Amino acid sequence: MSEPTPPIKKPAGRGRNLELPEHLKAYKGVWVFIEHDRGHVHSVSWELLGAARKLADQLSVPVSGVLLGGPDEALDAFAKEAFSFGADECHIVRDPILKGYRNEPFTKGLTDLVNKYQPEIMLLGATTMGRDLAGSVATTLQTGLTADCTELNIDGTSRALAATRPTFGGSLLCTIMTLAYRPQMATVRPRVMAMPRADTTRSGSIVEDTLGLVEANIVTKLLAFIPDATSNKINLPYADVIVSGGKGLKNPDNFALVFELARVLGGEVGATRPVVQAGWVEAERQVGQTGKTVRPKLYIAAGISGAIQHRVGMESSDVIVAINTDPNAPIFDFAHYGIVGNAMQVLPALTNAFAAHFQARARQAA
Ligand SMILES: Cc1cc2nc3c(=O)[nH]c(=O)nc-3n(C[C@H](O)[C@H](O)[C@H](O)COP(=O)(O)OP(=O)(O)OC[C@H]3O[C@@H](n4cnc5c(N)ncnc54)[C@H](O)[C@@H]3O)c2cc1C
Repeated sequence: MSEPTPPIKKPAGRGRNLELPEHLKAYKGVWVFIEHDRGHVHSVSWELLGAARKLADQLSVPVSGVLLGGPDEALDAFAKEAFSFGADECHIVRDPILKGYRNEPFTKGLTDLVNKYQPEIMLLGATTMGRDLAGSVATTLQTGLTADCTELNIDGTSRALAATRPTFGGSLLCTIMTLAYRPQMATVRPRVMAMPRADTTRSGSIVEDTLGLVEANIVTKLLAFIPDATSNKINLPYADVIVSGGKGLKNPDNFALVFELARVLGGEVGATRPVVQAGWVEAERQVGQTGKTVRPKLYIAAGISGAIQHRVGMESSDVIVAINTDPNAPIFDFAHYGIVGNAMQVLPALTNAFAAHFQARARQAA
């Protein structure tokens, strides 16, 4: 006689994670961590304020910026700028310990603010600092974090943050919601969200808080800042013109044609992952899912097939011009202008034509 089939058991607590517990319903407002370093706010913070404004308007809640820094840093000026980009208020914590980023004091500062003021959404840039901080704050708060989001919306039914990001190697997009924990945290890479227009007539309120930490209790010490010799030289995400090359260029010598056109146009050089892997250019030039997200006014793609992992990093460009020998290459599905041809002939032709055009303009102006 066979054993009766046992009933399928629901795992303990199943379903519990799908509803917002009563005590978390008090969490209100959308917060943006304003990242600054050596006197400059990272533009991703303003891009996030623009996104936060849209989310907050749907929820009818305020937008707040969070500024952590040293007493001699320009935090009030940064707050003023934050108001112009959509913040209604700024939480500021000034403490000598917060001069220069360190994970421990920043995690404590942000965690304490969240516990005190209870925002429902917290956004950070997917930068080196933002990624480091978001992970530790989410762990300390025991809440959900969706990293590298490409879209942020409010779910009409649950009013939860619907955070969309690529998954399965970029072949699919998934939308993740943190239904039973607060705050809902997300990071977004620079240039994924559009830069909002600054409205300098906007103002807001400043809320000051203290850190409550002593230097002696912090394990890490900031001894000196040694700038990376290559950093800031290649500013791909914020370039207005990018000429990018792919494996269709065949070898590094031909890839020099990409540099030539970029030089004449006053633009930056981008590349696909196989080009970086082949060592033709530095990793900082890679555009795509595992590289940089860019939004130039003009993106010229030479010898690039247009794989989804490349496309996600550049499809928000204002104008995309593709040069490819294969008329059926996927890049032609989303390029604004397509040139079916050999990049080794088309690139020098464009370089010469633009150079002649700029020379003629300079002669006219003289
Ligand atoms: C997890 C994961 C992450 C990835 N992340 C990235 C990423 O961030 N960025 C990225 O770029 N890729 C990424 N990739 C790789 C991606 O899937 C593609 O393999 C890559 O983008 C293709 O690069 P390509 O277009 O240079 O080369 P190919 O796909 O080989 O395309 C070369 C193109 O050049 C054309 N061509 C050939 N000769 C000429 C010529 N003489 N003139 C003009 N055109 C010519 C061909 O028709 C072809 O369309 C990732 C892949 C995975 C799995």
